[in-house]
Amino acid sequence: VHRHSEETERLAEAILAYAEDRFELDPVPLDGPKPHEELERLAGQTITEEGMGGEAALRLFDDVLSRACVSVDHPRFLSFIPAAPTEAATLFDLVVGASSIYGGSWLEGAGAVYAENQALRWISDLAGLPAGAGGVFVQGGTLGNLSALVTARHVARARRDGPPPLRWQIAATRGAHSSIGSAASVMDVDVIAVEPDADGRLGGAGLRSALEATDGDGLFAVVATAGTTNFGIVDRLAEAADACAERGLWFHVDGAYGGAALAAPSVRALFDGIERADSFIVDPHKWLFAPFDCCALLYREPELARAAHAQTAGYLEPLQGSEWNPSDYAINLTRRARGLPFWFSVAAHGTRAYTAAVERTLEVARYAAAEIRSRAYVELLRAPDLSVVVFRRLGWEPDDYYSWSDRLMKANLAFVTPTIHEGETVTRFAIVNPRTSEADISTILDTMA
Ligand SMILES: *Cc1c(COP(=O)(O)O)cnc(C)c1O
Repeated sequence: VHRHSEETERLAEAILAYAEDRFELDPVPLDGPKPHEELERLAGQTITEEGMGGEAALRLFDDVLSRACVSVDHPRFLSFIPAAPTEAATLFDLVVGASSIYGGSWLEGAGAVYAENQALRWISDLAGLPAGAGGVFVQGGTLGNLSALVTARHVARARRDGPPPLRWQIAATRGAHSSIGSAASVMDVDVIAVEPDADGRLGGAGLRSALEATDGDGLFAVVATAGTTNFGIVDRLAEAADACAERGLWFHVDGAYGGAALAAPSVRALFDGIERADSFIVDPHKWLFAPFDCCALLYREPELARAAHAQTAGYLEPLQGSEWNPSDYAINLTRRARGLPFWFSVAAHGTRAYTAAVERTLEVARYAAAEIRSRAYVELLRAPDLSVVVFRRLGWEPDDYYSWSDRLMKANLAFVTPTIHEGETVTRFAIVNPRTSEADISTILDTMA
């Protein structure tokens, strides 16, 4: 199975050719899910004692399995938060896969960790974090948020005199991502709901009144969102930082989606105050053109994270005292060097290309907002901060949105799903793909007329 042979050579060629062909599809087919029974009929039992051979398995993937997966990088995939990896990043993902790198420790993966850390440094610089900041690329924002909050509580626990509080608490708005609630539930802590201001943002006044309404005894962190998932709203980070500083609270900024816009001068001012974060996440697999899965988790003082997360055991002793072990900064030990495809692409293209690409998506989002304002049958819910544009189709019931969305997908035209805002079913465009054009937006809006 592991020996090099003519067969593996042929397979290597077939796989590289597959990857190349995928790049040449313009646009890629949107594709879509199929029911289990249909896949059973088409693919059948794939695992057998004899094996079907690599080429047959690849053919099965190409003909059946891949076609039952939506292409998230399709320029008219505007649901959830799409992805749009650069070709350089995707190609380098193949190299990472071929290289058998253990990305958890300096001892085993020094070269990879060095490169990943430079990529993290670029993000830290965009955010204005100090020279000592650092962290690790984890699987996704969910794990990034959880790891950051676990660090925050570890710090609070260490600083505390006297008995533990009745309940540990964090504060966040309703607009915070679902992963914050999930982290709270994993950690068994309560979430204090902060009312956003009239503009839908977490601000100093709402935060102070929420904090004053609790006894504050077990409160250890405030989560601000820099680009909410549903609307792309950036909280008032400087005000949140002030409120945290007054009370000695950990200030965590969730920029899983929106943090990418730190690279975009046209909206950078929205993020003022982020440089005061104790921890910060951004998913390069969302709007920084990296393949799945990749979340940059950064700490102002990484030592605090190491104290919370480093695992110790006899068999890990040889790793002690080495330069930088990425495993020490999150809930993970074995890890893929998942920051490398992102690093490679930034190293190859340069940071200016990233600024241009993010700005391009913002331009298309502004076009979408203007186009919605100009059409009588649709209505913009709010002016976008970033590249999420939420709007309603006047006169539509929830079922209309769902059947429209379904039609677009079945026609291989677009993937745009409904969302819910204050009980109302509406829809949204999340634009993170520089290949999404003004014409794509108009085409989709035309289908709602
Ligand atoms: C997507 C998202 C997350 C979760 O990230 P995953 O990579 O999906 O785990 C967290 N916060 C925000 C604001 C997000 O948009």
